[in-house]
Amino acid sequence: FILAVVGALAVLSSFRKAEQTDPTAKRIEALLAKMTLEEKVGQLNFVVGDLFNTGPTVRTSESDKFNEGIKKGEITGIFNIHGAAYIGKLQKLAVEQSRLGIPLLIGADVIHGFKTVFPIPLAEAASWDLEAIEKGSRVAGRESAASGINLTFAPMVDIARDARWGRMAEGAGEDPYLGSLIAAARVRGFQGKDLSDPLTIAACVKHFVAYGAAEGGRDYNTVDISDYELRNTYLPPFKAAIDAGAASLMSSFNELNGIPATANMKIMRDILRDEWGYKGVVISDWQNIMEMTEHGYTRDNAHAGELAIKAGTDMDMMAEIYLKELPKLVKAGKVDEKFLDESVRRVLWLKFKLGLFEDPYRYSNVKTEKKEVRSKENLQAAFEVAQRSIVLLKNENNLLPLSNKTQKIAVIGQLADSKADMNGTWSFFGEAQHPVSFLEGIKKYAKGAEVTYAPGYELYNDSKAGFGAAVAAAQKADVVIMAVGESAVMNGEGASRADVALPGVQLDLMKAIHATGKPIVALVSSGRALELSWLDENIQSILATWSLGSEAGNAVGSVLYGAYNPSGKLPVSFPRAVGQLPIYYNQKNTGRPYTGTHSEPGEERVYKSRYRDVPTTALYPFGYGLSYTNFKYDNLKLSKQSFRPGEPLQVSIEVTNTGNRAGEEVVQLYTRDLVGSITRPVKELKKFQKLSFKPGEKKTVTFNITAEDLAFWRADLTYGFEPGDFKVFVGPNSRDVQEAAFTLVTEDTL
Ligand code: BGC
Repeated sequence: FILAVVGALAVLSSFRKAEQTDPTAKRIEALLAKMTLEEKVGQLNFVVGDLFNTGPTVRTSESDKFNEGIKKGEITGIFNIHGAAYIGKLQKLAVEQSRLGIPLLIGADVIHGFKTVFPIPLAEAASWDLEAIEKGSRVAGRESAASGINLTFAPMVDIARDARWGRMAEGAGEDPYLGSLIAAARVRGFQGKDLSDPLTIAACVKHFVAYGAAEGGRDYNTVDISDYELRNTYLPPFKAAIDAGAASLMSSFNELNGIPATANMKIMRDILRDEWGYKGVVISDWQNIMEMTEHGYTRDNAHAGELAIKAGTDMDMMAEIYLKELPKLVKAGKVDEKFLDESVRRVLWLKFKLGLFEDPYRYSNVKTEKKEVRSKENLQAAFEVAQRSIVLLKNENNLLPLSNKTQKIAVIGQLADSKADMNGTWSFFGEAQHPVSFLEGIKKYAKGAEVTYAPGYELYNDSKAGFGAAVAAAQKADVVIMAVGESAVMNGEGASRADVALPGVQLDLMKAIHATGKPIVALVSSGRALELSWLDENIQSILATWSLGSEAGNAVGSVLYGAYNPSGKLPVSFPRAVGQLPIYYNQKNTGRPYTGTHSEPGEERVYKSRYRDVPTTALYPFGYGLSYTNFKYDNLKLSKQSFRPGEPLQVSIEVTNTGNRAGEEVVQLYTRDLVGSITRPVKELKKFQKLSFKPGEKKTVTFNITAEDLAFWRADLTYGFEPGDFKVFVGPNSRDVQEAAFTLVTEDTL
């Protein structure tokens, strides 16, 4: 203990010394010393641009709305605007006409690409391809930086296990391990090697924390979870993003165990600042400081401002409470000015890190903007990520890939011809007319075939008026390609759904088309896990096509015709019924686990943890996804039966491509800790490798497991591993695995 204290003091004093000698720290102190109280709160006031007043495309023309505020130093930055020239002018106002000349932060929700739109984050996660994901964020970072933006409100790293929650679309799914790797990859992508490079932007990891655990899947809803759940499931992706250097973090809308996140001392101070030593800027979510009064936690704006700043929420997004209330609170002695100083220091630090003090116009180069935005290379990158995001869920009798001999194709469904919907949720900057639609992509790849199109259903209307024409088109075709699922606005923020089936009359149409007896390929777009039970029983081939962005149609066309062999794996469990939600593979066991796979309706009552009417398992489990070729898994081997910390255990398995087509496979390794000081999940993803196989190729895939891989937050809330018996599972998904057993031996067990 004494050593730990001495160590901590040494770190602290070396940090202080560094602050005294670090030239940036010196400049920050000098600037801070000149600032009035009003100028300080100005640096904490973040406002939105004209986006929400001007419809789907963001305005780039000059708006005078902020001029006065900028000159008075009342605004630290503006978000959701873009345009190198426009932003250059705003910076000029800040630098030349405000008293202290502090440049502006320009934020934006660059969530999955900028003008080159990449697949929604959930789709990208389905690629299980960290390089591709990092590249997606790198391109988004380059394009938006070239267009004047220096901070993105991304990545969203909230673990989501309830498909009713619309924001499942924006994250990496249900698993903390995969989620952590992806969180770090995205931060690296946005921020590049170094923020001083003008083609990088600062990341803002969000939403801190447990926003995805909203009760009932209703957005913004109450979250009440144990410390174990918080630390083992929801915090890891944040920690990973921070370790990767995330320059800022956003506090979430939800309350956590009775206290709104924005003023929650335990997460904001104890964990984030003290335990993790986080020095980045914390930004409130949209007016969530004000909303603490709606929560019933604060009396009024002044009270809310006081608690938020004391918790270390540095910036106030859109509530203007810091601007209006903090000076009064300081003067009244309710808030010590040191809290403001602490927050202002962090904001200035970010502006320095971005190089804005050296050159406030570094993000405002019109030539660079022209060169970067929607460049050929960027679109090619979006195409490749989109291909890798597609998941083949079913492929009966190898209906896919389609052969060029298929003469007549009927494309059915309004989503097949809806460019705007391809952009998906949170794509303010992607223009509606840009994406390649499915129909266009299919025509491009279906060389020589006759392609007819009938919308069949209307997205926001329950009319069946289009059914007749769609059925007629199907009758004349050899194969039907049906695009169904969600439009771009059916998921994302404020888009929770109580039912996660196909919306409207889509399933009715599908049944009518199915009755023609024609083979059907379903392209299922969504920003969440959907309930696809009927499709699974009746439709020959199913592809999860999410919202794939600018290159959606090309990616889908290339997969339908086998130019790309699908390799995606689900990052979320797809339920059999909405009543199963939340459903996730890494659940706990119960004292009465149900191992049957079927429900048993009738008189019998089974005293097991199950439903009478629906099996407990997912329809398509986490990690699931097929290929046009087949992979065989044999010979799971361990290098030893028991191992000790410091002597890793090797787990190997032979994987063979038994088909005659090249393909990629994500080989997944899970473990189960059989006895823990707190109960442990039935499976936990610990490792995976995405590998390419030539036809007939066999590879021995080896994983190293160390004791650290088995660590978790234990009963006494310390982090570490526990000795004992484990199972290890390896396979193509979280369900179809081979298993073996091993023991972790430590000094305690000897
Ligand atoms: C969302 C954030 C987003 C912010 C700014 C909020 O409503 O929750 O994720 O970054 O708006 O647009």
